[in-house]
Amino acid sequence: MSELPKTLTFRMPAEASPLGYRQRPAKSLLEVDRLRKTFVQSEGAAVERVSLQVGEGELLALLGPSGCGKTTTLRMIGGFEDPDEGRVIFEGRDITHLPPEARGIGFVFQDYALFPHLSVIDNVTFGLRKLPKPERIERAEEMLKLVGLSTLGKRRPHQLSGGQQQRVALARALAVSPKLILLDEPFSNLDAKMRVETRQEVRKLLKSTGSAGVLVTHDQEEALALADRIAVMDRGRVVQVGTPDEIYRNPVSEFVANFIGRSNILRGNADGMYVQTAFGNLPMSRAANGAVNLAVRPEQIMLEPDPDSRASIIGREFRGHDQIYWVQDGEECMIVISGPGAQHPIGTHVRLRICDCVVPLT
Ligand code: ADP
Ligand code: MG
Repeated sequence: MSELPKTLTFRMPAEASPLGYRQRPAKSLLEVDRLRKTFVQSEGAAVERVSLQVGEGELLALLGPSGCGKTTTLRMIGGFEDPDEGRVIFEGRDITHLPPEARGIGFVFQDYALFPHLSVIDNVTFGLRKLPKPERIERAEEMLKLVGLSTLGKRRPHQLSGGQQQRVALARALAVSPKLILLDEPFSNLDAKMRVETRQEVRKLLKSTGSAGVLVTHDQEEALALADRIAVMDRGRVVQVGTPDEIYRNPVSEFVANFIGRSNILRGNADGMYVQTAFGNLPMSRAANGAVNLAVRPEQIMLEPDPDSRASIIGREFRGHDQIYWVQDGEECMIVISGPGAQHPIGTHVRLRICDCVVPLT
């Protein structure tokens, strides 16, 4: 077998690039190639042909419901689980069967995995033994400050809450500035306010150190807020990869449309870029033909009071910055989000209008 190149790059012939030689190819740091994992005890594969790429300094979220194979995928990248099939390439090296400590990849476990006999500060300095002691302490203190634990350096892990232990684990992994850090639900034990603050701090820190990250989460809001790209997983497979904006605007399936935000699903008859629906002839975000299901976001629907309409408001939720209405129209129940302006009571007859492209689903 020929030797693998030191770094894998997306090669593009110079003549194919409109900018010629000056366009630099995006460097790929991590390539996950058709990983598969079956556990003896469980039926079917936990992870099935999962392929992913992570660029240098990029933050990728692995997003999906509980049990869809996120942790197993991450553990195979980190070397804590051996895949049945497939390869993991990191910085151009095949590391599929290397032990975790030989990979140079940081890991934050869902269950912390701190050393119980070491103080907080010693847990954080653990990976920094190559540095002179003063620098080691300085770096560890910087990390503890970042995760909001400056004053707790002398405590042992058992003297901390679960959330605090998670933050020590985060500080420990970040302290060695790995080129890639794997994070399994790192914010799940923090309260809501701390979670929002910490995730932005973590993003900032990864960006400033240039470390890439693969973050496992079941929280779509977290993935949308934090990641450069999202890989959505369902039942062991990656079903869509894209930027948060692409995934939100252009979900490929009903599963993705409903897992990330909320969607109304309409029936339609498509003809190229347009589709005939109960709401008239509407433009689509991509071409399709024949009978299709369509995703329509609640904020893409306009609602106007109209006493002659058969549709009426059957539910309402005021949320301050906007309000949600549930509108029954014959058999269909639609969910609509509108601004904080006019408020309509339950029972109001309304007309719905779709004011944007709708998305055909597979
Ligand atoms: P997620 O992180 O998305 O919640 P996991 O990767 O932990 O999902 O699990 C995927 C599937 O594999 C689940 O059905 C889970 O029960 C199963 N699984 C995970 N780890 C093991 C294991 N060590 N032994 C047996 N089954 C496992
Ligand atoms: Mg998990």
